[in-house]
Amino acid sequence: MYERILIPTDGSDTAEVAVEEALEVAERFDAEVHTLYVVNVDAMDLSLGTEQVERVKAGRFGEMDELEAKAREATEYVAERGRERGLDVSEHFRAGQPHDVVADFAADRDVGLIVMGSHGRSGVRRMLLGSVTERVLRSTHRSVLVVDEREAE
Ligand code: ATP
Ligand code: MN
Repeated sequence: MYERILIPTDGSDTAEVAVEEALEVAERFDAEVHTLYVVNVDAMDLSLGTEQVERVKAGRFGEMDELEAKAREATEYVAERGRERGLDVSEHFRAGQPHDVVADFAADRDVGLIVMGSHGRSGVRRMLLGSVTERVLRSTHRSVLVVDEREAE
């Protein structure tokens, strides 16, 4: 049923909880697994100079060590968990607004299922859903599995 599964990750504990569910589904459906880290350009505007923001928007965030390390750590975690199950995970990096990038990626790659956390790195826990997840739900026609860390405990 699901030929391709997308796991967007921000490297948070909740995203990591979602990874296990995603991989379990991937195994059962023998699906191709993609994981995607989006450098959030809006959030960066506050902390970086214009020149750096332009570089990231041009997709050249790899030149910036700290950002690259964070992104790679997040996707590498997914790849490693996949390897433990004998699954091959493709790692992707993009810059933009996370929900837009996730929705576009899902459409471009014809992803059948997006699996993501209810929360991420920065959210207020009393909110039912983080803003990225909420916006993805509003931006895509693809199936989305939202893994709630509180249920998963
Ligand atoms: P908020 O960002 O609204 O303050 P939050 O950080 O708790 O709240 P979200 O950012 O919506 O919640 O995170 C929910 C899920 O969305 C994460 O578990 C992850 O799967 C995905 N996600 C969030 N940010 C990114 C990102 N930059 N790149 C890829 N996936 C992301
Ligand atoms: Mn967030």
